[in-house]
Amino acid sequence: IYLDRIQQVDPEIGAYITITEETALQQAEAVDALRAQGETLPLLAGIPAAIKDNICTKGVKTTCASKMLASFVPPYDAFVMEQLTDQRVVMLGKANMDEFAMGSTTENSYFHPTKNPRNPQRVPGGSSGGSAAAVAAGEAAFALGSDTGGSIRQPAAFCGIVGMKPTYGLVSRYGLVAFASSLDQIGPLTRTVRDSALILNAIAGHDCRDATSLAHPAEDYTRDLEKGVQGMRIAIPREYFGEGLSAAVKDRILKTAALYEKLGAELVDVSMESMKSALAAYYVISSAEASSNLARFDGIRYGYRAAEYADIDELYKKTRSEGFGREVKRRIMLGSFALSSGYYDAYYKKALQVRTLIMNDFKRVFDRCDVILSPVAPTTAYGLGEKCSDPLEMYMGDIYTVPVNIAGIPAISMPCGVDADGMPIGVQLMGPTLSEAALYRAAYALE
Ligand code: GLN
Repeated sequence: IYLDRIQQVDPEIGAYITITEETALQQAEAVDALRAQGETLPLLAGIPAAIKDNICTKGVKTTCASKMLASFVPPYDAFVMEQLTDQRVVMLGKANMDEFAMGSTTENSYFHPTKNPRNPQRVPGGSSGGSAAAVAAGEAAFALGSDTGGSIRQPAAFCGIVGMKPTYGLVSRYGLVAFASSLDQIGPLTRTVRDSALILNAIAGHDCRDATSLAHPAEDYTRDLEKGVQGMRIAIPREYFGEGLSAAVKDRILKTAALYEKLGAELVDVSMESMKSALAAYYVISSAEASSNLARFDGIRYGYRAAEYADIDELYKKTRSEGFGREVKRRIMLGSFALSSGYYDAYYKKALQVRTLIMNDFKRVFDRCDVILSPVAPTTAYGLGEKCSDPLEMYMGDIYTVPVNIAGIPAISMPCGVDADGMPIGVQLMGPTLSEAALYRAAYALE
């Protein structure tokens, strides 16, 4: 059914880069055969999924939506793919994204842009726009995305679905092509909160191949779903409701807060001064890490190689000039600059100091509150092409999502209404480290 649906709508939506029809049918038939034999199957057996194309899939192209990796076929599976294979999940294909996960609209894909299933004139958000669109359009039952500065939560909000960015280290990054290693985290995009919790149950876990993987005992993230929010303390930070936030989004978010109050939660007005510097710190840190991570794409080890070159320097230069898109080059230049010896103290070191301030601010608020409520993005999904020419304006859209990655805490994006054009609005719930079960509980109360 899902493959038929993909055939019907994907030519218009463009959620996928690669569709793995043949192996999907084989995987589904294998599940059917086991079921016919009366085997007890894992909970997710036979559930069809879309996987963001920066997650390595053995024998299946993993392009990062870049010319650089357009024909790269990994010889191994990412940790999360091993987990999903154990569960006998059926992979339908690899989802479109912004090149190397840099962007907020999925328009930075080398292949094609993805359209928002709610309105094909609008962007689906990004960078996991293909993952979000696939789920919203019924082209997958769930999807995996990655979130470095909002790339799961913002497309989920733009497409009207649920997106979870787990605590840093809860899900292994083994086999995720790195953008900014200290911020990247894999998570689920789903239609419901329960689905999200079930997928997180399957992909969380310790993995010694990722040095930052947490040795956290397995939890059942569905366990508190129905407990309600009675007595929960929900912080509303002033800094998240200032200039730049559209009236329609602000109104919905405040109404959602009021709904929580009605459901028995207590709203707490707080101030988080450091949030003003979060966006600047994010772009310095993420670009610095990206410039280092992307140094490996040199035309020698793997991926694209320029056709003609006189010597090794020219090989590097031509390969990287031709293989990377404009946004990726912009980040590499920004990052190299921030890390260069004369500017390191002024930019990179400063950004790390801001990082500490942000962590302290969150800690202070979580000392007296259970969750923080905020918008996910300043606006709803805008028109295709609308913000392409102004990268700074595009970066501004990440203002509410990046602090979470900087602090390493979990956050969920949850649909909470629509604007006058019928475009979905998302509310963000943030919690302290490893508070996923509480976030799901709070999110479920809105369903
Ligand atoms: N939009 C942000 C950026 O371009 C977030 C990207 C992400 O989370 N991968 O950096």
